[in-house]
Amino acid sequence: MKRRQFISKTGALALASLGTAGTGLFNLSLAQSARPRITDIRVHRMRTLGETGMMESAWAPGRPYMRRIGGGSVTEIYTDQGISGIAPGMSPANIDRMKALLVGQDPFDNETLGHQMRYTNGAANNWRDVGCIEIALWDIVGKVANQPLYKLWGAQKDKVPAYASMIQLSTPEERAEQAVRVKEKGWQGIKIRLHHLQMKEDIRTIELVREAVGEDFTIMTDANQAQSSGIWQPGVQWDYKRALDTARALDELDVYWLEEPLRRYDYDGLAELNRATDITLAGGENNQGVQEFKDIIDNGVYDILQPEILVTEGVQGLRAVAALGLANHKQVIPHHGGGQLGTIAQLHMIGTWPHCPWIEIMNDPPISPYTNGFAIFENAPVVDSEGNMAMPQGPGLGVDIDRSLIM
Ligand SMILES: [Mg+2]
Repeated sequence: MKRRQFISKTGALALASLGTAGTGLFNLSLAQSARPRITDIRVHRMRTLGETGMMESAWAPGRPYMRRIGGGSVTEIYTDQGISGIAPGMSPANIDRMKALLVGQDPFDNETLGHQMRYTNGAANNWRDVGCIEIALWDIVGKVANQPLYKLWGAQKDKVPAYASMIQLSTPEERAEQAVRVKEKGWQGIKIRLHHLQMKEDIRTIELVREAVGEDFTIMTDANQAQSSGIWQPGVQWDYKRALDTARALDELDVYWLEEPLRRYDYDGLAELNRATDITLAGGENNQGVQEFKDIIDNGVYDILQPEILVTEGVQGLRAVAALGLANHKQVIPHHGGGQLGTIAQLHMIGTWPHCPWIEIMNDPPISPYTNGFAIFENAPVVDSEGNMAMPQGPGLGVDIDRSLIM
């Protein structure tokens, strides 16, 4: 339509509305006021429902802590239409700054709001809070649209196999027993930590697990060596030779991937290792921002990208990394997302991605089963008897928190 024609048609429409319903301006202001507006942001601390025991994470030796059922915190963004959105708990210290930016805004404008959060408010130093806000905004959008987020974003699948991501460093015998129990419950894959002082104990662990579970079960491995640029972790530090020897031994045992075998920014070493071995290398949970994933791809660092919604620039960032991965023929299998609402948000995204065959679920029973974190939900998703987790079907994130647990 030519511009002149368009103007004359819209002019005619405005005149028509003047004649039938008062003024065209009145109609416009009605349409605007009908849009939801953000009114408040709060962070709820959630009560715990009990303790399940002390556990030391393999990647943080010397720092055991009590594992609990429930707990944690939840961000809630309210609107003037009685609809609210939930997300992982952001830092309470940043609420006022986020409120100054968001109150009065339309939650559907989340691309604009996301841009503002990143570049005008200092939040670029805190991707976690940006991710929390974006998840809650999208939950509102899904609830207003009355659609689960994965359907709203474009569904590709309704369920995904979950792999049991182990936490503690056990003896090879204990780990083999545990793997069998997990398989008996229906899980199709398990991830095992490689943190023994001696490489031969790591390899013996995988040998015993493979022997115990048979061929029809997926084994992933994680060396957690890419955290060395962040929090100091006093565990075993791998050099290139240990990474190379381990990678070659694991390949013989039909291991699906080796995760974070070297330091986070040792792109040269990682690329060299990738060229020298046949095993699939995975990583990225501690890499921040889309640009780092572009560098990872350009340098041939990892075969599987593992961005995390609370580290990699929130919803916008994670979707951008997914698009980058798809364009470069990489699988994208996110880091776990924190075990509560971050995991649920990623579950919906995975439902839209053809290049994501698994979801990481932190599950090391009996002390740290995934149901500990999910206990804050009234309608938590479950891993079914075939090892799959289905996308929630309710609107938005599709899960509700148990409000009796808010402290
Ligand atoms: Mg990892």
